[in-house]
Amino acid sequence: MSFPPIDPETLRRWDKEHLWHPFTAQADWAAGEPLIIDRAEGAELIDTRGRRYLDGVSSLWCNVHGHRHPTIDAAIREQLDKVAHTTMLGLSHPTAIELARKLVELAPPGLTRVFYSDDGATAVEVSLKMAYQYWRQKADPEPERSMFVALGGAYHGDTIGDVSLGGVDRFHAMFRPLLFPVLRAPIPFCYRCPLGLERTSCLTACLDEVEHLLRAHPGQVAGVVIEPIVQGAAGMVTHPAGYLEGLRRLTRKHGTLLIADEVAVGFGRTGRMFACEHEGVSPDFLCLAKGITGGYLPLAATMTTEEVYSAFFATAAQGKTFQHGHTYGGNPLGAAAALATLRVFEEERTLERIGPLADRLALHLGRFSSLRHVGEVRQRGLMAGIELVLDRGSKAEFPSHQQVGNRVCRMARELGVLIRPLGDVLVVMPPLSLTGSQLDRMMDVMLRCVVEVTERN
Ligand code: PMP
Repeated sequence: MSFPPIDPETLRRWDKEHLWHPFTAQADWAAGEPLIIDRAEGAELIDTRGRRYLDGVSSLWCNVHGHRHPTIDAAIREQLDKVAHTTMLGLSHPTAIELARKLVELAPPGLTRVFYSDDGATAVEVSLKMAYQYWRQKADPEPERSMFVALGGAYHGDTIGDVSLGGVDRFHAMFRPLLFPVLRAPIPFCYRCPLGLERTSCLTACLDEVEHLLRAHPGQVAGVVIEPIVQGAAGMVTHPAGYLEGLRRLTRKHGTLLIADEVAVGFGRTGRMFACEHEGVSPDFLCLAKGITGGYLPLAATMTTEEVYSAFFATAAQGKTFQHGHTYGGNPLGAAAALATLRVFEEERTLERIGPLADRLALHLGRFSSLRHVGEVRQRGLMAGIELVLDRGSKAEFPSHQQVGNRVCRMARELGVLIRPLGDVLVVMPPLSLTGSQLDRMMDVMLRCVVEVTERN
């Protein structure tokens, strides 16, 4: 049975009357023309009026193999015919078990335990609570370890724990009084080096700052949290080579845990299945979400080591249980979508496709580099940011009221390409299944919009 369709005008009106959209200035939304997506095919979204848009940001950085992929669609339907939902509290089910096995096979060595939750924020939140509890109940407890190190510009989700780690004032400053204190290390952002150094000398300086924090708080740091290789919400900030490996070395040296938040960079986005692989790093926690289900359904996983797990391996009477769980954690539909997503990686050799596509993207980005109002372009695999600036020489930003990033994206939408900015950094994160010609079209539209909006400014 299907319900009769509601006409687009009524939908628009009801949206404005009732919905409150995330990360959205509602007065701007109310004044604008809401785009209501009705269907999708591959890398294209189709609105209620039948207009098609290239999905330049993979829905929200999560759609890996395109929309309505037949393998993933079929896997979800098959699972629906068995059971849509059952809890992981006191029960288990085949898809979650098989998925855990598969994730362990694929993840960096040593990550043998999988704890499911339902989105990126919870995947990181779980790692914080597990790390905290681990230090208190391991064989040789270190109960003073209560603090976390996070980077400037960090973004790990919107729960209070993750917001505590957060370093983006626009999102996080409002809530500071509610948050637990965090040791803040400088963001390794060479274009706008917080230490005022030049690119060539910045690597060790950044790491020295982390080491300084660890030395200043001996035996007090529970973990260092990082978005490996690329810090997404900070503005697609690509870390200098060796930074992640250096952080792994430091966390080992000072006996603390490394928490890798691969919510945005995992599942092929940077050209490898997991970003940690670029530097041969095995973290103590690997936080996964977004692309895990191909962007289909909410599911997340926090992976950890036998060392961490063993500190919780006890009877109920011993009181070491991890007292945490979400209703939809590890849900069968999400797990089925995830298993199918991983199968598509194998069947379509997705990782092998990314290299050539990323090279093609690099060529397009080269065309932006020479523009008067482009400060820097940053790219790893199919994840890129184009930073728009008022003045290249001084790197001065556009005044925020000019909303330059937003205007570029609005114009791109008129021309059939959907992208979202982070301030004045344009995000390029298309599905990994994008074709070469779709990539060309998307980048041509973006180039035209950047020129028109910034040159007219
Ligand atoms: N960590 C990172 C690095 C992210 O980019 C995001 C979301 N953009 C999150 C965590 C939070 O994920 P979610 O929105 O699924 O809660």
